[in-house]
Amino acid sequence: MAKVVIIGAGGVGGVVTHKVASLPEVFTDVVLASRTLAKCDAIAAQLERPIRTAQIDADDVPALTAFLQAEQPYLVINVALPYQDLTIMDACLNAGVHYMDTANYEPLDTAKFEYKWQWAYQEKFEKAGLMALLGSGFDPGATNVFTAHLAKHYFDEIHTLDIIDVNGGDHGYPFATNFNPEINIREVSAECRHWEDGAFVTTPAMSSNQSFTCPEGVGTYDIYRMYHEELESLTKHYPTLKRAQFWMSFSEKYLTHLKCLENVGMTSIEPIDFNGQQITPIQFLQAVLPDPASLGPRTRGKTCIGCYVTGIKDGKPKTAYLYNICDHESCYAEVKSQAISYTTGVPCMIGAKMMVEGTWMKPGVWNIEQMDPDAFLADMNRYGLPWTVIEDPEFNLK
Ligand code: NDP
Repeated sequence: MAKVVIIGAGGVGGVVTHKVASLPEVFTDVVLASRTLAKCDAIAAQLERPIRTAQIDADDVPALTAFLQAEQPYLVINVALPYQDLTIMDACLNAGVHYMDTANYEPLDTAKFEYKWQWAYQEKFEKAGLMALLGSGFDPGATNVFTAHLAKHYFDEIHTLDIIDVNGGDHGYPFATNFNPEINIREVSAECRHWEDGAFVTTPAMSSNQSFTCPEGVGTYDIYRMYHEELESLTKHYPTLKRAQFWMSFSEKYLTHLKCLENVGMTSIEPIDFNGQQITPIQFLQAVLPDPASLGPRTRGKTCIGCYVTGIKDGKPKTAYLYNICDHESCYAEVKSQAISYTTGVPCMIGAKMMVEGTWMKPGVWNIEQMDPDAFLADMNRYGLPWTVIEDPEFNLK
């Protein structure tokens, strides 16, 4: 059906490549390109089907444009880092290639998660007859599609949204992050913002928490309110939302380590002079922490990520909770990765499939909840992330 170029050979890139390569009838030709060729080759060596690999620096727009012009793929799947989103979008426009990603653009020097930079490309993509699909991972990604599904099939109007991301997995290290450490630490140490009565309200990081019991015996966890990028697009596209919040589980051990690292300045993104060389503390920290890709064989337990929505149906108040549970060890057995990269990589492959098959194909820049959710959710059941809806669940969130 179509040729794709995947950019980024990290934890998520590995899963996407496995999943894409397993559907030769959809993705007829696959090229995995990243900054370090050896990482692409290591992933390619795990596959049953041969794919091509290439070395590319996605910050270099002319080089990336020339590469895409030579390869002529239908679509670029961007699973490099958020810093590369705009350069890859520019190269896609130059080469006439569709684009998708799993995380919104973030400038290197400010930890700011905002869609404004990518939304500004709307007209350019529309005029070029190209599509850019933003945020097709799990959160953002599946959580946006869950919200769209509940709004479409269970409610006349949605009023509150709580996205709850629980990772009940244990990798056995005193401290490690499940995806790129720099991006992860920037995200969790940022001030919290949640949506309330038409505006974002800012509170200190990790200042609100509660206990949440996951379904199907996954367990009870402390969840902390934090800002997550899908809140921006979901509150824009669902203006009936009076409140929208994002919660993530953290262990006391993780938070104690993080606080200590913050207190000594190790999470800072401000470059410092060290022995006559400029280094950024958070990048140095990343270099000494375990590589997220190495957590796969050691992680046991499950993730449970879902959306709890309240609103109105047929004039009466209603609540519904849509969730997926994913097992770290099963993910590793299937694609040699823990569940965090797996739950990102599978929706990423499905978003690409929706575009390649033409189910979702519309020139312009779109957040994933702007597409019809039905075919995507059917594919989540088929490709490893089955989901369940509980209507009027018994738990209440604050
Ligand atoms: P990793 O750090 O494991 O991998 C990133 C990859 O991108 C590496 O292979 C890296 O190369 C490559 N890369 C970095 N800079 C460049 C560049 N300039 N040119 C080419 N390649 C480059 O990250 P993850 O796999 O954990 O995350 C990938 C993306 O997925 C991130 O944007 C992250 O925010 C997003 N994500 C989204 C989630 C969601 O649910 N929506 C959840 C988790 C992650 P090298 O090996 O040389 O460093």
